[in-house]
Amino acid sequence: MNLSLGLAQVARRSPDNPAILWHSGALSYGGFEDQVARIAGALRDRHGLKPGARIGMAMENAAAFLPVLYGIWRAGMAAIPINAKLHPREIGWILENAGAPMCIATPGPADALGGISGVPAIIATGSADYAALLAGEPVTRVTGGPAEPAWIFYTSGTTGRPKGAVLTHRNLTAMALAYVADVDRIGPEDVRMHAAPMSHGSGIFALPFVMMGARNLVLGGSFEPERVFAVLGDHAKVSFFGAPTMVARLVNHPLAGSADLSGLKTLCYGGAPMYLADLKRALELFGPRLYQLYGQGEAPMTITHVTKAMHGDTAHPRYDDILSSAGFPRTATEVAIVDDDWNDLPAGEAGEIVLRNDCVMAGYLDDPAANAAALRDGWLRTGDVGVIDPLGFVTLKDRSKDLIISGGVNVYPREVEEVLLRADWVRETAVVGRPQADFGEEVVAFVVAHPGGAPDEAALDRLCLDHLARFKRPRVYRFVAELPKNNYGKVLKTVLREILAREGEAGR
Ligand code: AMP
Repeated sequence: MNLSLGLAQVARRSPDNPAILWHSGALSYGGFEDQVARIAGALRDRHGLKPGARIGMAMENAAAFLPVLYGIWRAGMAAIPINAKLHPREIGWILENAGAPMCIATPGPADALGGISGVPAIIATGSADYAALLAGEPVTRVTGGPAEPAWIFYTSGTTGRPKGAVLTHRNLTAMALAYVADVDRIGPEDVRMHAAPMSHGSGIFALPFVMMGARNLVLGGSFEPERVFAVLGDHAKVSFFGAPTMVARLVNHPLAGSADLSGLKTLCYGGAPMYLADLKRALELFGPRLYQLYGQGEAPMTITHVTKAMHGDTAHPRYDDILSSAGFPRTATEVAIVDDDWNDLPAGEAGEIVLRNDCVMAGYLDDPAANAAALRDGWLRTGDVGVIDPLGFVTLKDRSKDLIISGGVNVYPREVEEVLLRADWVRETAVVGRPQADFGEEVVAFVVAHPGGAPDEAALDRLCLDHLARFKRPRVYRFVAELPKNNYGKVLKTVLREILAREGEAGR
Protein backbone atom coordinates (compact mmCIF):
# COMPACT_ATOMS: atom_id res chain seq x y z
CA MET A 1 0.00 0.00 0.00
CA ASN A 2 0.96 3.66 -0.25
CA LEU A 3 3.01 4.45 2.85
CA SER A 4 1.01 7.59 3.58
CA LEU A 5 -2.10 5.50 4.17
CA GLY A 6 -0.37 3.76 7.06
CA LEU A 7 0.06 7.19 8.62
CA ALA A 8 -3.67 7.90 8.12
CA GLN A 9 -4.52 4.69 9.99
CA VAL A 10 -2.29 5.57 12.94
CA ALA A 11 -3.69 9.11 13.04
CA ARG A 12 -7.27 7.85 13.11
CA ARG A 13 -6.46 5.41 15.92
CA SER A 14 -4.39 7.70 18.10
CA PRO A 15 -4.59 11.31 16.91
CA ASP A 16 -3.19 12.81 20.12
CA ASN A 17 -0.04 10.70 20.32
CA PRO A 18 3.14 12.66 19.65
CA ALA A 19 4.48 12.06 16.14
CA ILE A 20 7.23 14.60 15.48
CA LEU A 21 9.28 16.35 18.15
CA TRP A 22 11.87 19.09 17.70
CA HIS A 23 13.73 21.49 19.98
CA SER A 24 10.86 23.97 20.26
CA GLY A 25 7.73 22.03 19.53
CA ALA A 26 5.78 18.86 18.84
CA LEU A 27 3.24 17.66 16.30
CA SER A 28 0.66 14.99 17.13
CA TYR A 29 -0.31 12.21 14.70
CA GLY A 30 -3.55 14.10 14.04
CA GLY A 31 -1.61 17.25 13.17
CA PHE A 32 0.92 15.29 11.08
CA GLU A 33 -1.87 13.66 9.05
CA ASP A 34 -3.60 17.01 8.55
CA GLN A 35 -0.43 18.60 7.15
CA VAL A 36 0.20 15.62 4.89
CA ALA A 37 -3.34 15.66 3.49
CA ARG A 38 -3.17 19.41 2.84
CA ILE A 39 0.28 19.38 1.25
CA ALA A 40 -0.99 16.65 -1.12
CA GLY A 41 -4.04 18.75 -2.00
CA ALA A 42 -1.96 21.85 -2.70
CA LEU A 43 0.56 19.97 -4.85
CA ARG A 44 -2.30 18.78 -7.01
CA ASP A 45 -4.64 21.77 -7.05
CA ARG A 46 -2.51 24.83 -6.47
CA HIS A 47 0.51 23.62 -8.45
CA GLY A 48 -1.31 21.44 -10.97
CA LEU A 49 1.08 18.53 -10.48
CA LYS A 50 -0.05 15.05 -11.45
CA PRO A 51 0.44 11.72 -9.67
CA GLY A 52 3.78 10.27 -10.72
CA ALA A 53 5.55 13.67 -10.63
CA ARG A 54 8.97 13.60 -8.95
CA ILE A 55 9.39 16.25 -6.29
CA GLY A 56 12.81 17.26 -4.98
CA MET A 57 13.42 17.72 -1.26
CA ALA A 58 16.57 19.69 -0.47
CA MET A 59 15.94 19.78 3.25
CA GLU A 60 18.21 19.85 6.23
CA ASN A 61 16.87 17.90 9.19
CA ALA A 62 13.73 19.86 10.03
CA ALA A 63 10.31 19.32 11.59
CA ALA A 64 8.80 19.71 8.12
CA PHE A 65 10.79 16.84 6.58
CA LEU A 66 8.32 14.04 7.31
CA PRO A 67 5.13 16.06 6.54
CA VAL A 68 6.61 17.00 3.16
CA LEU A 69 7.74 13.43 2.43
CA TYR A 70 4.39 11.88 3.32
CA GLY A 71 2.50 14.75 1.63
CA ILE A 72 4.27 13.96 -1.64
CA TRP A 73 3.29 10.32 -1.20
CA ARG A 74 -0.32 11.17 -0.41
CA ALA A 75 -0.42 13.08 -3.69
CA GLY A 76 0.70 9.88 -5.46
CA MET A 77 4.04 11.47 -6.33
CA ALA A 78 7.64 10.37 -5.76
CA ALA A 79 10.05 12.20 -3.46
CA ILE A 80 13.72 12.82 -4.19
CA PRO A 81 15.30 13.57 -0.81
CA ILE A 82 18.68 15.19 -1.50
CA ASN A 83 21.45 15.86 0.98
CA ALA A 84 21.15 19.59 1.59
CA LYS A 85 24.91 19.86 2.09
CA LEU A 86 25.62 19.02 -1.52
CA HIS A 87 26.84 21.88 -3.69
CA PRO A 88 23.85 23.72 -5.23
CA ARG A 89 25.09 22.67 -8.67
CA GLU A 90 25.06 19.02 -7.59
CA ILE A 91 21.52 19.45 -6.28
CA GLY A 92 20.58 21.16 -9.54
CA TRP A 93 22.08 18.25 -11.50
CA ILE A 94 19.98 15.73 -9.54
CA LEU A 95 16.77 17.75 -9.97
CA GLU A 96 17.38 17.99 -13.69
CA ASN A 97 18.37 14.35 -14.03
CA ALA A 98 15.12 13.33 -12.32
CA GLY A 99 12.99 15.80 -14.31
CA ALA A 100 11.61 17.30 -11.09
CA PRO A 101 9.12 20.14 -11.67
CA MET A 102 9.46 21.37 -8.08
CA CYS A 103 11.79 21.23 -5.10
CA ILE A 104 10.82 21.87 -1.50
CA ALA A 105 13.81 23.15 0.47
CA THR A 106 14.76 24.51 3.86
CA PRO A 107 15.76 28.20 3.72
CA GLY A 108 19.57 27.69 3.40
CA PRO A 109 19.56 25.44 0.33
CA ALA A 110 16.54 27.31 -1.08
CA ASP A 111 18.62 30.53 -1.13
CA ALA A 112 21.64 28.78 -2.59
CA LEU A 113 19.57 27.17 -5.34
CA GLY A 114 18.11 30.55 -6.31
CA GLY A 115 21.22 31.46 -8.26
CA ILE A 116 21.49 28.21 -10.21
CA SER A 117 20.09 28.12 -13.74
CA GLY A 118 17.76 25.36 -14.85
CA VAL A 119 16.52 24.66 -11.32
CA PRO A 120 12.73 24.12 -11.08
CA ALA A 121 10.30 26.00 -8.82
CA ILE A 122 11.64 26.09 -5.25
CA ILE A 123 9.36 26.31 -2.24
CA ALA A 124 11.18 27.26 0.96
CA THR A 125 9.80 25.99 4.24
CA GLY A 126 8.57 28.90 6.32
CA SER A 127 7.73 30.99 3.24
CA ALA A 128 4.27 32.19 2.16
CA ASP A 129 4.31 29.54 -0.58
CA TYR A 130 4.93 26.88 2.03
CA ALA A 131 2.09 28.23 4.16
CA ALA A 132 -0.11 27.89 1.08
CA LEU A 133 0.94 24.24 0.76
CA LEU A 134 -0.27 23.70 4.32
CA ALA A 135 -3.62 25.26 3.40
CA GLY A 136 -4.46 22.87 0.54
CA GLU A 137 -7.73 20.99 0.36
CA PRO A 138 -7.07 17.74 2.28
CA VAL A 139 -6.52 14.56 0.26
CA THR A 140 -7.35 11.47 2.27
CA ARG A 141 -7.25 8.82 -0.43
CA VAL A 142 -4.63 7.79 -2.94
CA THR A 143 -5.24 5.13 -5.53
CA GLY A 144 -1.71 4.16 -6.59
CA GLY A 145 -0.45 0.79 -5.38
CA PRO A 146 2.72 -0.56 -3.81
CA ALA A 147 4.65 -0.79 -7.08
CA GLU A 148 4.71 3.00 -7.51
CA PRO A 149 7.94 4.92 -6.96
CA ALA A 150 8.12 6.49 -3.50
CA TRP A 151 11.73 7.57 -2.85
CA ILE A 152 14.29 8.20 -5.54
CA PHE A 153 17.56 7.72 -3.74
CA TYR A 154 20.57 9.27 -5.41
CA THR A 155 23.63 7.19 -4.58
CA SER A 156 26.43 9.05 -2.84
CA GLY A 157 28.60 8.65 -5.91
CA THR A 158 31.79 7.57 -4.12
CA THR A 159 32.78 5.59 -7.21
CA GLY A 160 31.13 7.53 -10.02
CA ARG A 161 28.29 9.89 -10.89
CA PRO A 162 25.23 9.56 -8.64
CA LYS A 163 22.44 7.38 -9.99
CA GLY A 164 18.80 7.57 -8.94
CA ALA A 165 17.71 4.28 -7.35
CA VAL A 166 13.93 4.06 -7.58
CA LEU A 167 12.47 2.68 -4.35
CA THR A 168 8.80 1.77 -4.42
CA HIS A 169 6.27 1.79 -1.60
CA ARG A 170 6.67 -2.00 -1.48
CA ASN A 171 10.46 -1.72 -1.16
CA LEU A 172 10.15 0.68 1.76
CA THR A 173 7.35 -1.29 3.42
CA ALA A 174 9.55 -4.38 3.29
CA MET A 175 12.39 -2.33 4.80
CA ALA A 176 10.14 -1.15 7.64
CA LEU A 177 8.83 -4.64 8.38
CA ALA A 178 12.36 -6.01 8.36
CA TYR A 179 13.31 -3.36 10.93
CA VAL A 180 10.59 -4.59 13.24
CA ALA A 181 11.60 -8.20 12.62
CA ASP A 182 15.33 -7.70 13.11
CA VAL A 183 16.14 -4.61 15.14
CA ASP A 184 13.45 -3.93 17.76
CA ARG A 185 9.76 -4.05 18.47
CA ILE A 186 8.48 -0.47 18.36
CA GLY A 187 5.69 0.99 20.52
CA PRO A 188 4.17 4.48 20.66
CA GLU A 189 6.67 5.58 23.31
CA ASP A 190 9.69 4.72 21.23
CA VAL A 191 11.72 7.69 20.02
CA ARG A 192 13.65 7.77 16.78
CA MET A 193 16.25 10.50 17.02
CA HIS A 194 17.50 12.00 13.77
CA ALA A 195 21.06 13.15 14.33
CA ALA A 196 22.26 12.11 10.84
CA PRO A 197 20.87 13.43 7.52
CA MET A 198 17.24 12.43 7.01
CA SER A 199 17.78 12.45 3.25
CA HIS A 200 19.67 9.19 3.77
CA GLY A 201 19.55 6.30 6.24
CA SER A 202 18.23 8.22 9.21
CA GLY A 203 15.15 9.37 7.27
CA ILE A 204 14.57 5.92 5.83
CA PHE A 205 14.54 4.57 9.38
CA ALA A 206 11.79 7.08 10.27
CA LEU A 207 9.34 4.94 8.31
CA PRO A 208 9.01 1.98 10.68
CA PHE A 209 8.51 4.47 13.52
CA VAL A 210 5.66 6.22 11.69
CA MET A 211 4.18 2.88 10.71
CA MET A 212 4.12 1.84 14.37
CA GLY A 213 2.85 5.20 15.65
CA ALA A 214 6.06 6.10 17.51
CA ARG A 215 7.89 9.43 17.85
CA ASN A 216 10.43 10.98 15.52
CA LEU A 217 12.71 13.48 17.24
CA VAL A 218 14.43 15.77 14.77
CA LEU A 219 17.71 17.43 15.74
CA GLY A 220 18.32 20.31 13.35
CA GLY A 221 21.81 21.39 12.31
CA SER A 222 24.77 19.11 11.97
CA PHE A 223 25.74 16.16 14.12
CA GLU A 224 26.80 17.33 17.59
CA PRO A 225 27.72 14.79 20.26
CA GLU A 226 26.64 17.16 23.07
CA ARG A 227 23.08 17.26 21.76
CA VAL A 228 22.96 13.52 21.23
CA PHE A 229 24.08 12.94 24.82
CA ALA A 230 21.49 15.46 26.06
CA VAL A 231 18.67 13.59 24.30
CA LEU A 232 19.85 10.26 25.72
CA GLY A 233 19.64 11.77 29.19
CA ASP A 234 16.26 13.47 28.68
CA HIS A 235 14.26 10.82 26.80
CA ALA A 236 13.66 7.10 27.16
CA LYS A 237 13.69 4.35 24.48
CA VAL A 238 15.77 6.35 22.03
CA SER A 239 17.11 4.72 18.87
CA PHE A 240 19.20 6.42 16.24
CA PHE A 241 21.36 5.86 13.22
CA GLY A 242 24.96 6.99 13.05
CA ALA A 243 27.69 6.47 10.48
CA PRO A 244 30.82 4.89 12.04
CA THR A 245 32.52 8.30 12.02
CA MET A 246 29.67 9.67 14.16
CA VAL A 247 29.92 6.76 16.58
CA ALA A 248 33.65 7.45 16.88
CA ARG A 249 32.94 11.12 17.62
CA LEU A 250 30.63 10.09 20.43
CA VAL A 251 33.11 7.60 21.86
CA ASN A 252 36.03 10.06 21.70
CA HIS A 253 34.08 12.98 23.14
CA PRO A 254 35.17 14.35 26.53
CA LEU A 255 31.59 14.01 27.81
CA ALA A 256 31.40 10.33 26.89
CA GLY A 257 32.50 9.10 30.30
CA SER A 258 30.06 11.17 32.33
CA ALA A 259 27.02 11.45 30.04
CA ASP A 260 23.75 9.82 31.08
CA LEU A 261 23.18 7.19 28.40
CA SER A 262 20.23 5.52 30.10
CA GLY A 263 17.76 6.64 27.42
CA LEU A 264 19.52 4.73 24.64
CA LYS A 265 17.69 1.72 23.28
CA THR A 266 19.57 1.07 20.04
CA LEU A 267 22.37 2.75 18.15
CA CYS A 268 22.24 1.52 14.56
CA TYR A 269 25.52 2.01 12.78
CA GLY A 270 26.51 1.23 9.22
CA GLY A 271 26.97 2.75 5.82
CA ALA A 272 30.74 2.36 5.96
CA PRO A 273 33.17 -0.03 7.65
CA MET A 274 33.37 0.07 11.44
CA TYR A 275 36.75 -1.24 12.44
CA LEU A 276 37.01 -3.79 15.22
CA ALA A 277 39.13 -1.60 17.51
CA ASP A 278 36.61 1.27 17.23
CA LEU A 279 33.67 -1.07 17.74
CA LYS A 280 35.20 -2.53 20.91
CA ARG A 281 35.59 0.99 22.29
CA ALA A 282 31.97 1.78 21.37
CA LEU A 283 30.82 -1.40 23.11
CA GLU A 284 32.64 -0.37 26.26
CA LEU A 285 30.67 2.87 26.28
CA PHE A 286 27.23 1.80 25.10
CA GLY A 287 27.16 -1.90 25.95
CA PRO A 288 25.33 -4.26 23.59
CA ARG A 289 22.89 -1.62 22.42
CA LEU A 290 24.70 -1.45 19.10
CA TYR A 291 23.20 -2.83 15.91
CA GLN A 292 25.15 -3.01 12.68
CA LEU A 293 23.42 -2.85 9.35
CA TYR A 294 24.81 -3.27 5.90
CA GLY A 295 22.69 -1.79 3.17
CA GLN A 296 22.86 0.55 0.24
CA GLY A 297 20.58 2.98 -1.55
CA GLU A 298 19.64 0.22 -3.96
CA ALA A 299 18.54 -2.09 -1.10
CA PRO A 300 17.79 0.40 1.64
CA MET A 301 19.31 -0.49 4.99
CA THR A 302 18.52 -4.18 4.49
CA ILE A 303 21.16 -6.68 3.35
CA THR A 304 22.91 -8.11 6.41
CA HIS A 305 23.18 -7.26 10.10
CA VAL A 306 24.89 -7.91 13.40
CA THR A 307 22.11 -7.83 15.97
CA LYS A 308 22.32 -6.39 19.46
CA ALA A 309 22.30 -9.94 20.87
CA MET A 310 25.31 -10.86 18.74
CA HIS A 311 27.14 -7.77 19.98
CA GLY A 312 26.54 -9.06 23.51
CA ASP A 313 27.44 -12.70 22.87
CA THR A 314 31.05 -12.39 23.99
CA ALA A 315 31.31 -16.13 24.63
CA HIS A 316 30.73 -16.98 20.96
CA PRO A 317 33.84 -18.74 19.64
CA ARG A 318 33.79 -16.52 16.56
CA TYR A 319 32.85 -13.30 18.42
CA ASP A 320 35.62 -11.12 16.97
CA ASP A 321 35.10 -12.49 13.46
CA ILE A 322 31.38 -11.73 13.62
CA LEU A 323 31.99 -8.23 14.98
CA SER A 324 34.48 -7.61 12.16
CA SER A 325 31.95 -8.74 9.59
CA ALA A 326 28.75 -7.20 8.24
CA GLY A 327 26.87 -10.09 9.85
CA PHE A 328 24.14 -12.42 8.72
CA PRO A 329 21.45 -12.01 6.02
CA ARG A 330 18.44 -10.02 7.20
CA THR A 331 15.09 -11.76 7.58
CA ALA A 332 13.64 -12.79 4.20
CA THR A 333 16.85 -11.88 2.41
CA GLU A 334 18.96 -14.14 0.20
CA VAL A 335 22.63 -13.26 -0.02
CA ALA A 336 25.22 -14.91 -2.26
CA ILE A 337 28.71 -14.30 -3.58
CA VAL A 338 29.18 -14.43 -7.36
CA ASP A 339 31.86 -13.99 -9.98
CA ASP A 340 31.66 -11.53 -12.88
CA ASP A 341 29.24 -13.83 -14.75
CA TRP A 342 26.83 -14.25 -11.80
CA ASN A 343 28.11 -17.80 -11.05
CA ASP A 344 27.78 -18.69 -7.36
CA LEU A 345 31.06 -18.97 -5.48
CA PRO A 346 31.54 -21.32 -2.53
CA ALA A 347 31.84 -20.22 1.11
CA GLY A 348 35.23 -18.72 1.82
CA GLU A 349 35.83 -17.41 -1.68
CA ALA A 350 35.82 -13.67 -2.33
CA GLY A 351 33.49 -12.28 -4.97
CA GLU A 352 30.77 -9.71 -5.44
CA ILE A 353 27.93 -9.68 -2.93
CA VAL A 354 24.49 -10.09 -4.50
CA LEU A 355 21.14 -10.22 -2.77
CA ARG A 356 17.45 -10.69 -3.35
CA ASN A 357 14.65 -9.39 -1.16
CA ASP A 358 11.62 -7.13 -1.43
CA CYS A 359 13.72 -4.07 -0.62
CA VAL A 360 15.73 -4.26 -3.85
CA MET A 361 15.02 -1.17 -5.95
CA ALA A 362 12.82 -1.25 -9.04
CA GLY A 363 15.85 0.01 -10.97
CA TYR A 364 17.94 3.09 -11.67
CA LEU A 365 16.05 5.99 -13.14
CA ASP A 366 16.25 6.01 -16.94
CA ASP A 367 19.46 4.00 -17.05
CA PRO A 368 18.90 0.68 -18.87
CA ALA A 369 22.63 -0.06 -19.13
CA ALA A 370 23.18 0.31 -15.38
CA ASN A 371 20.06 -1.77 -14.72
CA ALA A 372 21.22 -4.56 -17.02
CA ALA A 373 24.55 -4.65 -15.19
CA ALA A 374 23.11 -4.50 -11.65
CA LEU A 375 19.84 -6.45 -11.74
CA ARG A 376 18.93 -9.97 -12.79
CA ASP A 377 15.81 -11.97 -11.80
CA GLY A 378 15.30 -9.81 -8.72
CA TRP A 379 18.94 -10.13 -7.66
CA LEU A 380 21.06 -7.01 -7.16
CA ARG A 381 24.82 -6.72 -7.60
CA THR A 382 26.08 -4.54 -4.76
CA GLY A 383 29.49 -3.59 -6.15
CA ASP A 384 30.92 -4.76 -2.81
CA VAL A 385 33.42 -7.58 -2.55
CA GLY A 386 32.84 -10.02 0.27
CA VAL A 387 33.14 -13.55 1.59
CA ILE A 388 30.51 -15.76 3.20
CA ASP A 389 31.73 -17.78 6.15
CA PRO A 390 30.47 -21.38 6.45
CA LEU A 391 28.51 -20.12 9.49
CA GLY A 392 26.63 -17.76 7.16
CA PHE A 393 27.99 -14.34 8.05
CA VAL A 394 29.32 -12.04 5.36
CA THR A 395 32.61 -10.22 5.67
CA LEU A 396 32.88 -7.18 3.50
CA LYS A 397 36.18 -6.64 1.86
CA ASP A 398 35.76 -3.42 -0.07
CA ARG A 399 33.94 -1.70 -2.88
CA SER A 400 35.14 -3.64 -5.94
CA LYS A 401 36.53 -0.38 -7.30
CA ASP A 402 38.66 0.15 -4.18
CA LEU A 403 40.40 -3.21 -4.49
CA ILE A 404 44.16 -3.04 -4.95
CA ILE A 405 45.77 -5.53 -7.30
CA SER A 406 49.48 -5.74 -6.61
CA GLY A 407 51.63 -8.24 -8.47
CA GLY A 408 48.43 -9.88 -9.73
CA VAL A 409 47.21 -10.54 -6.19
CA ASN A 410 44.24 -8.88 -4.51
CA VAL A 411 44.93 -6.68 -1.52
CA TYR A 412 41.80 -5.70 0.37
CA PRO A 413 42.41 -2.24 1.82
CA ARG A 414 40.13 -2.92 4.76
CA GLU A 415 42.35 -5.76 5.99
CA VAL A 416 45.35 -3.45 6.07
CA GLU A 417 43.33 -0.63 7.67
CA GLU A 418 42.20 -2.97 10.47
CA VAL A 419 45.83 -3.73 11.28
CA LEU A 420 46.99 -0.10 11.20
CA LEU A 421 44.18 0.86 13.58
CA ARG A 422 45.67 -1.45 16.19
CA ALA A 423 48.20 1.30 16.91
CA ASP A 424 46.43 3.29 19.57
CA TRP A 425 47.75 6.62 18.27
CA VAL A 426 46.11 6.03 14.88
CA ARG A 427 42.80 7.78 14.67
CA GLU A 428 41.80 7.02 11.09
CA THR A 429 43.33 5.47 8.05
CA ALA A 430 42.53 4.82 4.42
CA VAL A 431 44.51 2.49 2.20
CA VAL A 432 44.50 2.85 -1.58
CA GLY A 433 46.41 1.59 -4.60
CA ARG A 434 48.84 3.68 -6.62
CA PRO A 435 49.97 2.69 -10.13
CA GLN A 436 53.44 1.17 -10.07
CA ALA A 437 55.42 -0.16 -13.00
CA ASP A 438 56.56 -3.56 -11.65
CA PHE A 439 53.52 -4.63 -9.65
CA GLY A 440 50.66 -2.81 -11.37
CA GLU A 441 49.72 -1.12 -8.11
CA GLU A 442 51.38 -0.58 -4.78
CA VAL A 443 49.77 -0.08 -1.39
CA VAL A 444 49.68 3.44 0.06
CA ALA A 445 48.32 4.20 3.54
CA PHE A 446 46.96 7.60 4.51
CA VAL A 447 47.06 7.90 8.29
CA VAL A 448 45.54 10.44 10.67
CA ALA A 449 47.02 10.44 14.17
CA HIS A 450 45.07 11.26 17.35
CA PRO A 451 45.88 14.72 18.68
CA GLY A 452 49.17 14.38 20.53
CA GLY A 453 49.92 11.02 18.86
CA ALA A 454 53.41 10.75 17.36
CA PRO A 455 53.41 9.25 13.86
CA ASP A 456 55.81 6.32 13.72
CA GLU A 457 56.19 4.68 10.34
CA ALA A 458 58.51 1.95 11.56
CA ALA A 459 56.00 0.91 14.23
CA LEU A 460 53.26 0.63 11.62
CA ASP A 461 55.49 -1.44 9.41
CA ARG A 462 56.23 -3.81 12.29
CA LEU A 463 52.51 -4.16 13.03
CA CYS A 464 51.88 -5.11 9.41
CA LEU A 465 54.72 -7.61 9.39
CA ASP A 466 53.22 -9.21 12.50
CA HIS A 467 49.72 -9.51 11.07
CA LEU A 468 49.79 -9.47 7.29
CA ALA A 469 51.43 -11.15 4.33
CA ARG A 470 54.46 -9.08 3.28
CA PHE A 471 53.01 -8.05 -0.06
CA LYS A 472 50.07 -6.36 1.64
CA ARG A 473 52.26 -3.95 3.62
CA PRO A 474 51.96 -0.33 2.62
CA ARG A 475 55.02 0.77 0.65
CA VAL A 476 54.28 4.37 1.45
CA TYR A 477 52.77 6.10 4.47
CA ARG A 478 51.23 9.53 4.28
CA PHE A 479 50.51 11.24 7.57
CA VAL A 480 47.70 13.72 7.02
CA ALA A 481 45.55 15.97 9.23
CA GLU A 482 42.28 14.57 7.90
CA LEU A 483 40.78 12.30 5.26
CA PRO A 484 38.54 13.62 2.49
CA LYS A 485 34.94 12.58 3.20
CA ASN A 486 31.60 13.06 1.54
CA ASN A 487 28.62 14.55 3.34
CA TYR A 488 27.69 11.20 4.83
CA GLY A 489 31.09 10.81 6.41
CA LYS A 490 32.31 8.22 3.89
CA VAL A 491 35.98 8.42 3.03
CA LEU A 492 36.45 9.42 -0.60
CA LYS A 493 39.14 7.06 -1.82
CA THR A 494 38.66 8.43 -5.33
CA VAL A 495 40.03 11.76 -4.07
CA LEU A 496 43.03 10.06 -2.45
CA ARG A 497 43.78 8.23 -5.68
CA GLU A 498 43.50 11.50 -7.59
CA ILE A 499 46.01 13.13 -5.21
CA LEU A 500 48.45 10.29 -5.81
CA ALA A 501 47.89 10.41 -9.57
CA ARG A 502 48.57 14.16 -9.66
CA GLU A 503 51.77 13.69 -7.66
CA GLY A 504 52.79 10.91 -10.04
CA GLU A 505 52.36 13.21 -13.02
CA ALA A 506 54.22 16.04 -11.31
CA GLY A 507 57.12 13.69 -10.54
CA ARG A 508 57.46 12.52 -14.11
P1 AMP B 1 24.97 4.15 0.06
O1 AMP B 1 24.23 3.62 -1.09
O2 AMP B 1 25.43 5.56 -0.12
O3 AMP B 1 24.25 3.95 1.35
O4 AMP B 1 26.35 3.32 0.18
C1 AMP B 1 26.29 1.92 0.31
C2 AMP B 1 27.66 1.34 0.48
O5 AMP B 1 28.20 1.67 1.76
C3 AMP B 1 27.64 -0.17 0.44
O6 AMP B 1 27.58 -0.68 -0.86
C4 AMP B 1 28.94 -0.50 1.16
O7 AMP B 1 30.06 -0.35 0.31
C5 AMP B 1 29.01 0.58 2.24
N1 AMP B 1 28.42 0.04 3.49
C6 AMP B 1 27.15 0.08 3.89
N2 AMP B 1 26.98 -0.52 5.07
C7 AMP B 1 28.20 -0.99 5.44
C8 AMP B 1 28.70 -1.74 6.56
N3 AMP B 1 27.91 -2.11 7.57
N4 AMP B 1 30.01 -2.05 6.56
C9 AMP B 1 30.83 -1.66 5.56
N5 AMP B 1 30.43 -0.96 4.49
C10 AMP B 1 29.13 -0.63 4.42
